[in-house]
Amino acid sequence: MNTTILGYPRIGARRELKFATEDYWAGRIDAAALEEAGADLRGTVWTQLRDAGLDTIPSNTFSYYDQVLDTSVLVDAVPDRYRHLDGLDRYFAMARGVQDVPALEMTKWFDTNYHYIVPELGPGTRFRLADGAGAKPVSEYREAKALGIETRPVLVGPLTYLLLAKPAADAPPGFGPLDLLDGLVEVYAELLERLSGAGAEWVQLDEPALVADRTEEEVAALARAYARLGELSSRPRLLVATYFGAIGADALRVLAGSRVEAVALDFVAGPGNLDVLATVGGLPRKTVVAGVVDGRNVWRADEQRAKATCAALLGLVDQVTVSTSCSLLHVPIDLDAETSLEPAVRGRLAFARQKAEEVVALGRALREDAPAPAAQVPAPAAGIDHRVRARLDMLGDARRGDRAARFAAQRATLKLPDLATTTIGSFPQTPEIRKARADRRAGRVSEDAYVQAMKDEIARVVAFQEELGLDVLVHGEPERNDMVQYFAEQLDGYAATEHGWVQSYGSRYVRPPILHSDVARPRPMTVEWTSHAQGLTNKPVKGMLTGPVTMLAWSFVRDDQPPAETARQVALALRDEIGDLESAGIRIIQVDEPALRELLPLRRTEHAAYLDWAVGAFRLATSGVADSTQIHTHMCYSEFGEIIDAIGALDADVTSVEAARSHMELVGDLRAAGYENGIGPGVYDIHSPRVPSAEEMEDNLRRALQAVEPDKLWVNPDCGLKTRAYPETEASLRNLVTAARRVREGA
Ligand code: GLN
Ligand code: ZN
Repeated sequence: MNTTILGYPRIGARRELKFATEDYWAGRIDAAALEEAGADLRGTVWTQLRDAGLDTIPSNTFSYYDQVLDTSVLVDAVPDRYRHLDGLDRYFAMARGVQDVPALEMTKWFDTNYHYIVPELGPGTRFRLADGAGAKPVSEYREAKALGIETRPVLVGPLTYLLLAKPAADAPPGFGPLDLLDGLVEVYAELLERLSGAGAEWVQLDEPALVADRTEEEVAALARAYARLGELSSRPRLLVATYFGAIGADALRVLAGSRVEAVALDFVAGPGNLDVLATVGGLPRKTVVAGVVDGRNVWRADEQRAKATCAALLGLVDQVTVSTSCSLLHVPIDLDAETSLEPAVRGRLAFARQKAEEVVALGRALREDAPAPAAQVPAPAAGIDHRVRARLDMLGDARRGDRAARFAAQRATLKLPDLATTTIGSFPQTPEIRKARADRRAGRVSEDAYVQAMKDEIARVVAFQEELGLDVLVHGEPERNDMVQYFAEQLDGYAATEHGWVQSYGSRYVRPPILHSDVARPRPMTVEWTSHAQGLTNKPVKGMLTGPVTMLAWSFVRDDQPPAETARQVALALRDEIGDLESAGIRIIQVDEPALRELLPLRRTEHAAYLDWAVGAFRLATSGVADSTQIHTHMCYSEFGEIIDAIGALDADVTSVEAARSHMELVGDLRAAGYENGIGPGVYDIHSPRVPSAEEMEDNLRRALQAVEPDKLWVNPDCGLKTRAYPETEASLRNLVTAARRVREGA
């Protein structure tokens, strides 16, 4: 019984990688110093994993930015616009752009909150092993070897790489990245030979794309790729790693019939893998790397379950290696760094370092057939209060009045013009605001002084919006560090870490809160701020909350009950908050759900069950209000495709979405799907400091009016303004108000 892990965080226990890359970008250190920092981080990880007692240790899981970008550079898939640059400068230009040369696109890695840099490929892309013998996986393998540590280089598999790519803008219709498979596989073949020459015994090829729905053509491509790599005469042994769900039976059949020596399967996110294995008749001559320790969540492993899975596998495969379910990239590094977690919560947790130790302990226990060292896993806080459960069972999730009744009631009380103008919630977070929050955290200012500073800021933001002439105002969210963390800090059942950083993209790391027990709201969370704002104006102020799905998506969530149940608890807390806002005289309340689409399962067969609980939680949170209270929701993307019906089912009175970059197309799409409530298609892109002209926004509004009536059309930017500065915010919002007025007058 061997032990391994599929990958490890690269950012360093003290975020060394962030500081080093940002120093390099700012010109404070040179390339040699950055490379030295990288080598230190790699050496520390390898040494730590060896000392933990793992039998095989991965390498090439380090990256200065992203492993998919590394792969593009490795195989020389570099678009021409970056070719005038070299080395690290070229690499970072692809990731972040430079003056006049925009970056490659970035998007979410499967259903995680990690973002990868999307390869841009065209029929003219000619793959080659860019650095030959000095290629990154080879040099990192040698680097570990020089430290006396044998490693297994990890590569993004060729099929997954192509499936994650997009066609270059000038690629002819009909071209697909998969057309380039054979050329890419030859480069992998050369790389495998070089790795073998350097002494590598094993190579891991990550193919997580195999846990999503795949066409016959894609499965055929898989077969072709691994037939070619399998037949190489001098190559390391091949481990094809899948994770984030269960592999498809057709794909597993292909791997079973190939010459690859091992397959990694995720038994945490994909318990169905046992059935799939049985369906294909097992993998009699291969090793299964059994992902039984959750690589994506922070809970200690359930030893009994892990051992039972390994035992069940022994009948189906030749050998079992104990492993994490996926790379540990997605969890914080070291629980030992945390000093203020409650013992009852802490005892249930394992971060990357502890998970590597769990794998080792499980391997030992299975080898000796002895129980692993007794881990005391405290039970979660006592089960949900029976009164809460009774209440949950009783509450419906439908608004009192139908759409028309609500529309009439809201029109009568809110008295808003057609094409009502508003914003998405946050206003620029100025250095003064950040300083006030930091001072409070450090205890440098009294609570009263802090509250006063925030109220003053809210007053400024309200006056600013009145002066601009917006119709529905917001308080501006100055008190919020982050839209999930702010609420997590106030709800029972959540804990925060001090050092639990996880890479989101590049040098941007997040510290997700931990939802460990039953969620409850001990006291109102936003009412004081929102009421303060409403007291300063006669215009309606929109209350601002984060929805239940997003509260789960951007946290580590307990796994001892279904997420649907946890979402309902969060929804109930929000329902009470919404009730309190309503009682305080707030007539419009927005519940943001930017993560609704991100949690959509990778397999279509699982969509309906997910959307059912996700939509149900939103409705549970928002359905308690009077017909005259207007519920808004907001999502920061415009590719609705598979969730378009769910957007309608949320039954928010108004939905604001990103639309500026897709020219308002979405408005017609929503209408065509039967959505008849209000729509606020973002009329300008807030992701850049560019100030759009009033004419440009007027065009967008006129386009939207082809699909929606003026009394259902809202005018707003496409997301919150917190990352913007005041000069461009003021200019853009002035143009926005002008555009709405001109279209109203002309319409
Ligand atoms: N209300 C939030 C804001 O304006 C919404 C953020 C988001 O959609 N991600 O910042
Ligand atoms: Zn948004």
